[in-house]
Amino acid sequence: PEAGLVVENLSVSYAISRGPFRRADELPALRDVDLTIAPGRTLGVVGESGCGKSTLARAILRLQSLKGGVVRWNGEAISALSEPAFRRVRPQMQMVFQDPVASLNPRMRVLDIIAEPLATHRPELSGAQRRQKVLEAMERVGLRPEMADRFPHEFSGGQAQRIGIARAIVLEPGLLICDEAVSALDVSIRAQVLVLLEKLQREMGLSILFISHDLSVVRQIAHDILVLYLGRVVEQAPRDVLFATPRHPYTQALIGSVLSADPRIEKAHQSPPIGGDLPSPIDPPPGCPFHTRCPLAEPICAQAMPGLETWPDGGRVACHVANRERPAAA
Ligand code: SF4
Ligand code: MG
Repeated sequence: PEAGLVVENLSVSYAISRGPFRRADELPALRDVDLTIAPGRTLGVVGESGCGKSTLARAILRLQSLKGGVVRWNGEAISALSEPAFRRVRPQMQMVFQDPVASLNPRMRVLDIIAEPLATHRPELSGAQRRQKVLEAMERVGLRPEMADRFPHEFSGGQAQRIGIARAIVLEPGLLICDEAVSALDVSIRAQVLVLLEKLQREMGLSILFISHDLSVVRQIAHDILVLYLGRVVEQAPRDVLFATPRHPYTQALIGSVLSADPRIEKAHQSPPIGGDLPSPIDPPPGCPFHTRCPLAEPICAQAMPGLETWPDGGRVACHVANRERPAAA
């Protein structure tokens, strides 16, 4: 069985009601998403808000029911497990949230915050054993032991996120899901937290799913990058391939806006920002979901959905125009 996380054909829809008669309808949030994260690897997932990034995290953790597809963890189809069987696997997957201070209970001491997952999943541990595990997790994330008896408001945003990460690793998980985990932090603190995540990944062999709207942040940590648009994978590639040869016009626009924000890049190499708004996911346009904003759109783009084709360098792209350049398989 394949170690790590494997997601196949994952689809999620939200039930909604709309129109004058409140007709029941479906809002497709994710469609046919495939991804793999081996131990020790980081997959970055990028896209605008509303593209399905957080839904993906929730679906993997079974906080959201699936319309179709399967989620495997170390070869086991966890999306098909009974609730009690899933509860046994659940400690192996932990989440780090966006707003570090808001995600910590202000009335609990750091010791108790980090110990919470142990209290839930390892009730057999004594108080002394629990304290020992908390102190080990604190040391791993660079928090001094005397901080254990303080309260969250006494910490800066960066330290608060270290507390959140200590809580996430205290059960020694195999998968860490980071949803905008550094987006609220200052740039210098952000870099320190990313370095910490990389260190923990090396020490613990973590698979990391790193979700962010910010491609420049994802670039700093991800081995592979997956680009979502309106709930679909439009491109995926190893990080350096994606930055050297972005193939999907949406990825090109995202990279263009990252580079325009970089003062070292000459104006001549900057691309214009993406025009237009994200179409409503309730009535997605027919054909390629990006055709309403795409500078390269052709008549076929409004009619037929492009397939997600694999390239020889391991990249995958869903674009009629880009895939014309794809070398034939050897
Ligand atoms: Fe643009 Fe057409 Fe490619 Fe979609 S399929 S990204 S509309 S060129
Ligand atoms: Mg989100």
